[in-house]
Amino acid sequence: MDLRRSILLALARRYIAGEDVSGLVSLAKRLNSQGFRITANYLGEDVATDEQVRRNVDEYILLMEAFEKGKLASSISIKPTQVGLSLSREIASKNVNRILEQAADLDQFVWIDMESSPYTDDILRIYLSHKQSYSNIGITLQAYLKRSQGDLKRMLENESKIRVVKGAYNETPDIMLKGKSEIRNNLAEMLKALFKQNNFFSIGTHDNKLIELATALSHEFSNDNFEFQFLKGIREEKASELLDRRFKVSIYTPYGRSWMPYSIRRMRERDSATYFVLRSILRL
Ligand SMILES: Cc1cc2nc3c(=O)[nH]c(=O)nc-3n(C[C@H](O)[C@H](O)[C@H](O)COP(=O)(O)OP(=O)(O)OC[C@H]3O[C@@H](n4cnc5c(N)ncnc54)[C@H](O)[C@@H]3O)c2cc1C
Repeated sequence: MDLRRSILLALARRYIAGEDVSGLVSLAKRLNSQGFRITANYLGEDVATDEQVRRNVDEYILLMEAFEKGKLASSISIKPTQVGLSLSREIASKNVNRILEQAADLDQFVWIDMESSPYTDDILRIYLSHKQSYSNIGITLQAYLKRSQGDLKRMLENESKIRVVKGAYNETPDIMLKGKSEIRNNLAEMLKALFKQNNFFSIGTHDNKLIELATALSHEFSNDNFEFQFLKGIREEKASELLDRRFKVSIYTPYGRSWMPYSIRRMRERDSATYFVLRSILRL
């Protein structure tokens, strides 16, 4: 590996577990020993060739085998376009099925990440069709979409396990809520609905107001059948505080050779000092 790539990888390690399963398993062991669970994502989305799709599916199966072998408190989190949705819904669905079959044998849980809005309907359809046969699957809903309250209602009617997040893609104003506070309020409403029901759910946010709302709702409804999920490297002190307060916390941890775009995005968002160093290195 050239020197520049090694330096970049060292900086990126705050946000990712490394390039392969072995790095991820070491990190998972460390996180588990501290009381955190891990949910792992193999980096790379919008995959456009059969060969790459097959490799991604194989990678997730390898990963789940390693998790099972290490008896780790873990789950995986997959993006449907990694397993074929950019090619067709049928291909993605077949691959999700293959992953779920293995996950059931290996006692692993599979979160489905939500991608940009052209994929939302297909992802929900794939999720619902497999949910009939498998209980070890959960779906992500994005609070920034106007449609999400309706989706939440439909998914809850189907007794789904749901992860709520604000949403991360560039969407147009016709389908997206306007401002930060509107999105936060929408997520707050979604949380209220989730705390009133009994299925397991997950809260993927670093937003202090929402986290504290969730802790209050948990007490109000005596419902602890949920976990907080944090992205690796972000607000680690808050994640530890929640553990100390006896909440379940899982660390969403990406890994894989395509770590560069993901890590740069995370640094650009807030970590301006590291981003500055990174830009200087990239310009060398
Ligand atoms: C477990 C998990 C799974 C996700 N899955 C999906 C998905 O499937 N689909 C999807 O569209 N999106 C997903 N996301 C991303 C999500 O939609 C948001 O883009 C992201 O979480 C930022 O929103 P926030 O709720 O943390 O609020 P923000 O308002 O962005 O951040 C709240 C606070 O968190 C801190 N913070 C946020 N980012 C950073 C950073 N990089 N460095 C340091 N501090 C930071 C800051 O203190 C900030 O004020 C996921 C997020 C998580 C945590």
